[in-house]
Amino acid sequence: MLTMKTLILPIDPTAPDPTAIRQAAVVLQHGGLVAFPTETVYGLGANALDAEAVQRIFAAKGRPAYDPLIVHLAGPEALPAVGVEIPPLAETLAAQFWPGPLTLVLPRGPRIPLAVTAGGPTVAVRVPAHPVALALIRAAGFPIAAPSANRFGHLSPTQAAHVLDDLEGHIDMLLDSGPTPVGVESTVLSLVTPVPTILRPGGVSRESLVAVLGQVDVSGHVFTAEEVVPSPGALEQHYAPRARLTLYQGSRQVVLQAMHAAAVQLVAAGQRVGLLLAEGDAVAFAGLSVTVQSIETAGGLEGAARQLFTALRALDRAGVTAILARDFGARGLGLAIRDRLTRAAAGNVVKVG
Ligand code: AMP
Ligand code: MG
Repeated sequence: MLTMKTLILPIDPTAPDPTAIRQAAVVLQHGGLVAFPTETVYGLGANALDAEAVQRIFAAKGRPAYDPLIVHLAGPEALPAVGVEIPPLAETLAAQFWPGPLTLVLPRGPRIPLAVTAGGPTVAVRVPAHPVALALIRAAGFPIAAPSANRFGHLSPTQAAHVLDDLEGHIDMLLDSGPTPVGVESTVLSLVTPVPTILRPGGVSRESLVAVLGQVDVSGHVFTAEEVVPSPGALEQHYAPRARLTLYQGSRQVVLQAMHAAAVQLVAAGQRVGLLLAEGDAVAFAGLSVTVQSIETAGGLEGAARQLFTALRALDRAGVTAILARDFGARGLGLAIRDRLTRAAAGNVVKVG
């Protein structure tokens, strides 16, 4: 893998400096790679219409060619440039949720190289709700293909430092706007299925899609690497920290008791234990020699989603060998959090009362 110098440009998330944006756009126009903030996580961008530039994304991430990329647009008016036979439903959803963390899967337009769609007949598109991302797409003058800016299978980056941990020296430029406001990836919704189907839960909740569409299916199946994968974000082992993670599901009290018992055993066996908890849970583990990361659940799960990946990275950095994580329910952003933790656990899920 070619090593290059990664230029890091700090940029105001609310009023992006046009000179910095121009500089980044020029890199993209020359077929280079720019990591940039979106409202969900940092993306690793290239010109979506340039197959060679798109190949560089796969090389930098170590991403297998079967995993397609999301194409980012400055507005819904650009949809005809990337898709064909765009269903009226796409316009309804765009009007309601764009800019925002909803990705629509549509029939691929002829200008989109097959590298972007992993050879498939569909393309995933969205309009990100982040001034830096929007300014960059506009300045570039073409749609930007961007997966999350991490090595394949790692946790998605919600801060510039996370991008550098994984990709320094493998990308031309990084626009650093601080932490991303949503913190989990977009909801991927297929519009090529008979009923709109959530392929990956994310920043737009199932409930808010149901409110607009009436009926939405959720592809509940977690795919193993051997199966044909309709949406690789649905792979079993994805979004993973280094330490082995166990997810505990059930009512709070019983979950905390089960986690406590497991932590005691693991510590006795010489493991370094990390706990992913909600604020207020830590007292249940007082006196135990464990590393705790508590995420904010007061007033909805926005805080929890925003802090999730940073908390998991912090546990990895603390050198824990086992992570015990609690579930946060399936309502609202809880479904996306459950999805990421289930995948990070690679099936290692304990269901208690
Ligand atoms: P990332 O941006 O890293 O979260 O990765 C993009 C994810 O979007 C992929 O892993 C897939 O799950 C999903 N995706 C992209 N294109 C398609 C597509 N054409 N059909 C279904 N899912 C897609
Ligand atoms: Mg990703």
